[in-house]
Amino acid sequence: DLIAIAGLFSLSLGYLGARGLTRQQTPLAQLDDALVRGHIHPVYQPLFCLATGEMTGFEMLARWTKPDGSSVSPAVFIPLAEASKRIDKLTFALLDKAGAEIGEMLRHNAKLKLSFNVTPDQLLDPLFIEHFVAKISQANLNPSQLVIEITERQPISDIQAALRVSRELSELGVRLALDDAGTGHNGLSSLHALQAHYLKIDKYFVDGVVLDRKSSALVEALISLAKQFGMEVVAEGIETEEQRIKLLDLGIREGQGYLFAKPLSASDLIARSEQNPSL
Ligand code: C2E
Ligand code: CA
Ligand code: CA
Ligand code: CA
Repeated sequence: DLIAIAGLFSLSLGYLGARGLTRQQTPLAQLDDALVRGHIHPVYQPLFCLATGEMTGFEMLARWTKPDGSSVSPAVFIPLAEASKRIDKLTFALLDKAGAEIGEMLRHNAKLKLSFNVTPDQLLDPLFIEHFVAKISQANLNPSQLVIEITERQPISDIQAALRVSRELSELGVRLALDDAGTGHNGLSSLHALQAHYLKIDKYFVDGVVLDRKSSALVEALISLAKQFGMEVVAEGIETEEQRIKLLDLGIREGQGYLFAKPLSASDLIARSEQNPSL
């Protein structure tokens, strides 16, 4: 991933540049520092009903804002956090903040759901569920309003374990979404390995859907697969009205994208949720 490589390079350049001048900090030390100081924080991108414009929930996305106001891309720090085993710490810190910032809003509207991203390896870690259960009870989040998005980009190494965790989560009332569906190298094998409630169509296909016949054929195939697995389909990265109409035509009811809203701070999200449907 080019962005990730360029980003890590600039984090490292910062490190090299600082050598001999001031304190030296490796990218990993910078990440640890950011986690301790709470510089990694959540933003929330709303999801909407594509037909009525009603808000149905929001996806929590990680942001790293440095004290000088500059930011590091998630395409850089998420892989770094994964490789260095800081990803659980990061996820749970975000859930803590979400509980504090928007927990009340969720409790007031039982229909809204909070989605967040978890990597396949994280999900398969036997300690994850244990920590997760403790965390959501501490953050006073209702499990039936939570959706865990698992990316299809990375393979699921242990299908039996994945099924077991899926079942445990579903007993808790937590739903799973298969994220970036169709973009992985696993030939959609994650469909088998996860008992997911949602199938999330990647922006890549949404971009193509109004441009070429092949993309829309692919989206149609994904929708029909989802139906057979009893899954609901969500589209991400919707940027134009034309895409919204086309996706609705194909039978997709729910989605997110810059057409509706960019990722928002908690206070902007709360203000937005108090508005009337905009379509
Ligand atoms: P994703 O889960 O596929 O999230 C969607 C990404 O598309 C987000 O980028 C979002 O800001 C962006 N997006 C949404 N709508 C539009 C649109 O209409 N146009 C365009 N151009 N972009 C749109 P972001 O926030 O940079 O996140 C990138 C990826 O980093 C996410 O992709 C997700 O895989 C990962 N990520 C972010 N936060 C976390 C986290 O807390 N944990 C984990 N494990 N991964 C995370
Ligand atoms: Ca996602
Ligand atoms: Ca996605
Ligand atoms: Ca995506």
